[in-house]
Amino acid sequence: MNPSRVLFAASEVYPFAKSGGLADVTYSLPRALGQAHEMCVVMPLYRFIDRSAFGILPLNRSFSVRMGVEEYPIELFGCTMAGVEYRFVYSPVLCEREFLYGPPESGYEDNAIRFGIFAYAIVELLRQEPFAIAHLNDWQSALAALLIDQEPQIATKVLYTIHNLAYQGTFDPSMLEKLGIDPKFFTMDGLEFYGAINFMKAGIAYADTVTTVSPTYAKEIMGEAFGCGLEGFIRHHRAKLHGILNGIDDEHFAPESDSALSIPYRDLKGKAVNKSALLKECALKGAKKPLFVFIGRFTWQKGMDILIQNLEKIALYECNIVILGDGEKEYHDALALIAKQHANIALSFGYDESFAHRVYAAADFLLMPSLYEPCGLNQLIAMRYGALPLVHAVGGLADTVFAPKEETLLEGQGYGIVYHRSSDRAFISAFGRAIELFGDKKRYSAIAKHNMRCDFSWNESAKIYSALYETLIG
Ligand code: ADP
Repeated sequence: MNPSRVLFAASEVYPFAKSGGLADVTYSLPRALGQAHEMCVVMPLYRFIDRSAFGILPLNRSFSVRMGVEEYPIELFGCTMAGVEYRFVYSPVLCEREFLYGPPESGYEDNAIRFGIFAYAIVELLRQEPFAIAHLNDWQSALAALLIDQEPQIATKVLYTIHNLAYQGTFDPSMLEKLGIDPKFFTMDGLEFYGAINFMKAGIAYADTVTTVSPTYAKEIMGEAFGCGLEGFIRHHRAKLHGILNGIDDEHFAPESDSALSIPYRDLKGKAVNKSALLKECALKGAKKPLFVFIGRFTWQKGMDILIQNLEKIALYECNIVILGDGEKEYHDALALIAKQHANIALSFGYDESFAHRVYAAADFLLMPSLYEPCGLNQLIAMRYGALPLVHAVGGLADTVFAPKEETLLEGQGYGIVYHRSSDRAFISAFGRAIELFGDKKRYSAIAKHNMRCDFSWNESAKIYSALYETLIG
């Protein structure tokens, strides 16, 4: 067995399929680990992935996986990019969908079967080729941890990463039989969760090592407030839990060479050009006013209620606000209603990678009132592009954004506006502090320039993952 060969499994990987930060991480972490390990990333070949654009070709390897009484055919595809090998699992039930996972109203209740197929396919890959490590991510590949544990001939060690504990993959217990899982695993210390099957529990229980995406989140998920009902279970497995901060790919998020921008830039002068261009693009006026932006999924997690409840109030300040995102309809409707009455708010609904880059480049402040945030990448990207994050200090936000207290800014530490207890008052007060700081041009610019120089890449965290792999391999 090649001692450094790693099978890295995920349900979404940029640039093939992305619904959020998971895809950024599954793109950038294997690249960062590629120096020390032979990385092979495996994901489903969803039907919307443009095979020819990425040079994805059949590997002429097909097999089938058996779950319960059904056989599911699998075809393997592959490509290589930047030294990372990619494997794609194609099976009609898993891949012939318009969306990755949902939305729930679209009737995709068979996600248990879909990602069951993915888990069995991962195990088959391990049977066919030896890998030293299987690195599984989130609930969609978690079941593979249990399946690997049941295969004594597979010597592969398993590392499981929790990217967001709120999405656990819970399904009706009747699925157990369809998944071909022995009912003996349907217990509190196995897959059972309040009468349902819980995929994430398989990852936590059966992996050799479990990681999550920031040190603070690792602590938070052991408590009731952030544990999503799994806090006791996670505490039970705490000896193998590690909190490792995510990084960003500093070539993909690079203001100095980003082709999505009006002009690439290395300083605040260049950033100002991008700000003017974006204001024009959004039909907003007033380049001297601070530009606040929000980019992200419109969900409860991201603090949408705080944002919407206070949007009218903050819009009354001399400022511009750009909101880019997609998600729950009630949030769309509420935002649209408010924006209609305020000429300084621009809304953009949908998912637009290159527009997002232009928004980061133009922003003076990024609003991140998240109620919980496992790591958060937006704040790292914002700082790299010279914007100051305004954050609720939870999870990775608490680990990466600091309030500037002293005149001197500490080397390597990112700064922004920070509040500690989520409330309308705390958010508005933080907003006021941002406006005040922006008025102090010298101080604001010093912090923005400092943030741009910080290293938010994978350099440090990839070393920690690599050391965990080495420990597992022994
Ligand atoms: P999440 O909880 O959604 O994973 P993260 O902060 O970890 O949040 O990562 C979000 C990633 O998705 C970032 O790269 C961000 O720029 C991107 N993103 C989120 N919403 C949009 C959107 N509507 N258009 C483009 N990019 C987006």
